[in-house]
Amino acid sequence: MRTAITPLVMLQPRTVRDALRMLREDGSLTPMAGCTDLYVGLNFGAPAGRRFLNLWGLDALRGIEVRGDVLRIGALSTYSEIIRSADVRRRLPMLAAAACEIGAVQIQNRGTIGGNIANGSPAGDTLPVLSAADALVELRGIDSTRKVPFTDFYTGYRASVRRPDELITSIEVPRVDGCQWFRKVGTRAAQSISKVVMAAVRAPHPRIALGSVAPTVVRARRTEDALESGAPLVEAQRMLQTEISPIDDIRSTAAYRREVAARLLAQFWSDTRRG
Ligand SMILES: Cc1cc2nc3c(=O)[nH]c(=O)nc-3n(C[C@H](O)[C@H](O)[C@H](O)COP(=O)(O)OP(=O)(O)OC[C@H]3O[C@@H](n4cnc5c(N)ncnc54)[C@H](O)[C@@H]3O)c2cc1C
Repeated sequence: MRTAITPLVMLQPRTVRDALRMLREDGSLTPMAGCTDLYVGLNFGAPAGRRFLNLWGLDALRGIEVRGDVLRIGALSTYSEIIRSADVRRRLPMLAAAACEIGAVQIQNRGTIGGNIANGSPAGDTLPVLSAADALVELRGIDSTRKVPFTDFYTGYRASVRRPDELITSIEVPRVDGCQWFRKVGTRAAQSISKVVMAAVRAPHPRIALGSVAPTVVRARRTEDALESGAPLVEAQRMLQTEISPIDDIRSTAAYRREVAARLLAQFWSDTRRG
C-alpha cells in the first residue's frame, strides 16, 4: 500500500545522546515528537522535510518534577500529563488551564509542550504562559547545554535561537508568586485556534503576555509598568495597544483582536483584584 509517508525516512534513536549525534551528523533531520503539527503538514502535501528523527521513545525527555524552587517539565510531556500533574496544578495553574483548552483529548494525549514551543506558532497556547512565568528553555546539542530565557527564545515569526543540531529537552519555571490568570478566546471551546490568548500574573509587578496578536508571543512590559505605577486601567489598555500588532487573517480581524486584548486586560485586572 502506498501512503503519504512511503517516501519518507524515520530514524529511531535509543537515547537522547543518540538523537543529538544523529542531528549533528545529518542536518536534514526534522525532530518528531507527538506529530500533531507535523502530520498536518504531511497530509496537506507540505511535509516539514523527508527525513525525520522520532523522539517519542525517549523517556528521558518526559517527566514533570519540582527541584528546589524550580518546576521542571520534560519537553516530551503531553498536555494530558501536564493536566494530571499535581506539581503543575499547584505551581503553575495557568499552564494546566492552557493545556485543558488545547485541541481536544486526542491532541492532548499526543501533543507535547516541546512541540508547541518549537513549532513557534504565534497562536501556541502555552507560549504566553511560559512568557509570563519567566520560564527557561533548555536546549541540548551533542556537546553543549544552554538555558535560554523564554522571552529571548523567538527571534521572529516561527524563528528561534534553537540551532538545527539542538533539541529542546526541558522547560524550567522558577517559583511564580502572585495570582495566575489564563484566558483563550477562540471560535468555540474545543478544537479552536486562539484569536487572542493571554496569560498573566497579579503580583506587585504584574506580568502579562499575549498570543495571536503579533508575529511572536508578546510580553507586554510597558503595560506591566503602567499597572505597577498605579496608572488608570484605561491608560494601561492604551499602552497595550502600542505593544501588539495584530493582523487580519482567516480566524479574526486586527480590530477585533485589539478590542479583545484590551477587554482581557480589564478582565484580568478585575478577576485578580482580591488575589
Ligand atoms: C486538531 C488540532 C488541534 C490543535 N489545537 C491546538 C490548540 O488549541 N492550541 C495550540 O497551541 N496548538 C494546537 N494544535 C497544534 C499542536 O497540537 C501543538 O502545537 C502541539 O504542542 C505540537 O506538539 P507535537 O509534539 O505534536 O509536535 P510535532 O508535530 O511532533 O512537532 C512540531 C514542531 O516542533 C519540532 N519539535 C518537536 N519537539 C521538539 C523538540 N523536543 N526539540 C526540537 N524541536 C522539536 C518539530 O520538528 C516540528 O517542527 C492543534 C493541532 C491539531 C492537529
